[in-house]
Amino acid sequence: MPNQTHDDITDLIPAYALGALDADEAAQVEQHLTTCARCQADLAAYEAVTDMLPQAAQKIEPSPALKKRLLAQIQTTNTAVPPAPSRWQTWIDNLHQLWRTPRWQPVLALAAVAVLIAAFILWQQAPPAPQQIELTATNAAPDAEGVIEIATNGRATLTVNGLPPLAAEQQYQLWLIEDGQRASGAIFSVSDTGAATVTITAERPLATYSAFGITIEPAGGSPGPTGERVLGHNL
Ligand SMILES: [Zn+2]
Repeated sequence: MPNQTHDDITDLIPAYALGALDADEAAQVEQHLTTCARCQADLAAYEAVTDMLPQAAQKIEPSPALKKRLLAQIQTTNTAVPPAPSRWQTWIDNLHQLWRTPRWQPVLALAAVAVLIAAFILWQQAPPAPQQIELTATNAAPDAEGVIEIATNGRATLTVNGLPPLAAEQQYQLWLIEDGQRASGAIFSVSDTGAATVTITAERPLATYSAFGITIEPAGGSPGPTGERVLGHNL
């Protein structure tokens, strides 16, 4: 068997991904794969799809009645388009050709199933809502409100209202608490009305901390909390 070119092999990649090739063809594909990054990438893409499919997918063979109906529809569409070969007609012709090649029938059936599964998964996955953690005021600042919002990209912000404005030599500091360890998450001042929105910096995903607290600290922050706690949350 002469060495196969990329063009010969690339058409076999989908069937290879499905294990639908005979041993000779599979060996040719494997040999070509060792030298062709494009085919490796194609294979990875097809495998990503076939991995989503249940093992039983091989059994998905359209009933003779369904096959007949689909072919009839393709035939109808085919003859309905004008004689000048449009891109659409070429596509239909290719599909029809593929459909008549037994090896490609399971591939096309699987592709249809894959599209349905993908649509179903997308439909099921409603966009996740940002996570919000409400902070509770202490007696030191009973009118204060605070909320930590963790966006779906992991970025977290702290928004406070009603915190007493501090003297110039003091600032508020947010603490991220886990197992008694307190890490600084933000150092901030508030507006005249006691409001602020700051980005939280954390070494780990915010949801992995068990508690949060805000204390009054010397301007620039402290290595650990030293002042009065004004807002907090224990998960
Ligand atoms: Zn190739």
